[in-house]
Amino acid sequence: MKKIEHIGIAVKDINKSNDLFAKIFGKENYKSEIVESEGVTTSFFQIGESKIELVAATNTESPISKYLEKNREGMHHIAFDVEDIEKEMERLKNEGIRLLSDSPKKGADNKLICFLHPKDTNGVLIELCQEIS
Ligand code: ZN
Repeated sequence: MKKIEHIGIAVKDINKSNDLFAKIFGKENYKSEIVESEGVTTSFFQIGESKIELVAATNTESPISKYLEKNREGMHHIAFDVEDIEKEMERLKNEGIRLLSDSPKKGADNKLICFLHPKDTNGVLIELCQEIS
């Protein structure tokens, strides 16, 4: 893993949270994107070398709406930048870490992504992401 790519924050209302975080960071988001396959709408803020991703559900079947039924809004996942996502998934599988998908999925912000099972990571939801070149 190369570095923390972004930190994901689960929110209920993407527009309200966009305004709130723009106020907190003193700048607007640089991108909003709906990821249909995941049932989420995302918004990215660039803070120096780091990014913050706001994630909200677009439908009630979305993993984010299920998450928000049980948890409060707030810190949701940490995403790590990887060189070769398939290789990293294979390595983690061999270490006995379960993955939430068998193959990488197309995520927001031009990335291939995969989540690790939080039960195998001390409760931290970890996302791997590889930039699509
Ligand atoms: Zn993310």
